[in-house]
Amino acid sequence: MTTFADLGLSQKVLSAVTDAGYTTPTPIQAGAIPFALQRRDICGIAQTGTGKTASFVLPMLSLLEKGRARARMPRTLILEPTRELAAQVAENFEKYGKNHRLNVALLIGGVSFEDQDRKLERGADVLICTPGRLLDHFERGKLLMSGVEILVIDEADRMLDMGFIPDIERIAKLIPFTRQTLFFSATMPPEIQKLADRFLQNPERVEVAKPASASKTITQRFVAAHGKDYEKRSTLRDLIRSQEELKNAIIFCNRKKDVADLFRSLERHGFSVGALHGDMDQRSRTTMLQNFRDGQLQLLVASDVAARGLDIPDVSHVFNFDVPIHADDYVHRIGRTGRAGRAGAAFTIVTSRDQKFTDAIEKLIGEKIEWHNGDLSALPPAEPSRDDDRSRRKGRDRDKDRGRSKRHQGHKSDIGVDDNGAETIEAAPAPVRAESVKQERKADNNKTHNNARNSRPYPANDDNRERRRYRDHDDGPTPIGFGDEIPAFMLITANAKA
Ligand code: AMP
Repeated sequence: MTTFADLGLSQKVLSAVTDAGYTTPTPIQAGAIPFALQRRDICGIAQTGTGKTASFVLPMLSLLEKGRARARMPRTLILEPTRELAAQVAENFEKYGKNHRLNVALLIGGVSFEDQDRKLERGADVLICTPGRLLDHFERGKLLMSGVEILVIDEADRMLDMGFIPDIERIAKLIPFTRQTLFFSATMPPEIQKLADRFLQNPERVEVAKPASASKTITQRFVAAHGKDYEKRSTLRDLIRSQEELKNAIIFCNRKKDVADLFRSLERHGFSVGALHGDMDQRSRTTMLQNFRDGQLQLLVASDVAARGLDIPDVSHVFNFDVPIHADDYVHRIGRTGRAGRAGAAFTIVTSRDQKFTDAIEKLIGEKIEWHNGDLSALPPAEPSRDDDRSRRKGRDRDKDRGRSKRHQGHKSDIGVDDNGAETIEAAPAPVRAESVKQERKADNNKTHNNARNSRPYPANDDNRERRRYRDHDDGPTPIGFGDEIPAFMLITANAKA
């Protein structure tokens, strides 16, 4: 059996790997590391969860032992599609690079330019970036790419989905042709193959199967529900409460707006819950994720873009509040549980509108998914719509509603729970607290992005650029009362769970 010592890694790296507790390289590591150490280009076909990150971090650490970084001239560059993935790669450098004295700089949106600038000035051995923020720094003249010896393009298929490929092509042109390129993608459709052909020279192709453990250890079930959102929320609550083994769970929605609505609803119902989607500012995303990892939050409502590739060990349950429109997303979502051979459960709420999508999922995974408590035909008749009742009640009891709205300051529109435990939707005045947070953030943005704003054709804040790019995937317009506009709900969660 291959060991890490057989792969040609340096002593410093081997000792950090031993300290991390890893004894045997995963297939992508065993396949890619020896070639990376020989300075060969690599086309790696592997998804997160296979040990892919270490397959480029470990050889990079070994190769970087010779030489030093110069100011503003990074020696290596790693491109990641999302900030969370970039931050995870940086954590890997900390873990495996603990015996090295390398400067690692993380350039991601949502964080002040000044700090990142200082790191560039000092000279970075490793630069880990989202493409938009890297180009922002480059356009500001803060960075020279002519010293980059190794370029890593990670999650290439995700980059394609998110519209980052033109940026990556631009970046690749700024880096010397003689560089070594390590290219990773979970899938290899023709567009990605074409890209690989353009970026790579005589690459070694290393392909590993999707982690077989995923579907074997995950119990998958469809759960029939009526189509109205409040009915789906009620089904979800019952389901969560019925799961005795539930330690923690990620709940996926197709649209950002539904992430917001479901988050508020679950919070009103007393669940320990946080939310994660692409429009949240970076600090909130990081805090939220950390609270979930630490077990301070039991449930995390998320959109696909925000959650893609996150390495959150030991999630016991995944709930799909919506059936994903792309069957691929289903595989990614349920892959958040049952990691490293652990048992996991994945429940997908299905309404009568979803058959096309459930068929596609079953076709993709090559198996039929069982129904939990009977299929759609077994559902009791739907209750009469509450929408009419609600608007009648609003007209009748406007004063009463106003009183309640005041109690729920912090949301422009709110989902509450009435005295019988049923949900109500309310309009509340714009919150003072959220306004002040908004002002603070505005001031912060002005401070950090002022120079760039005057000189560029698009808003300086690369959050906006990234957001525009993957809006189609994180679906729907930014909901009123959420995201950048009203980050106060994040504060409410933090307070509630403190
Ligand atoms: P990745 O595919 O890079 O997201 O890694 C998935 C998980 O596998 C991470 O939690 C790693 O720390 C872990 N891991 C990486 N390499 C190994 C290894 N050789 N043995 C066991 N676990 C590993």
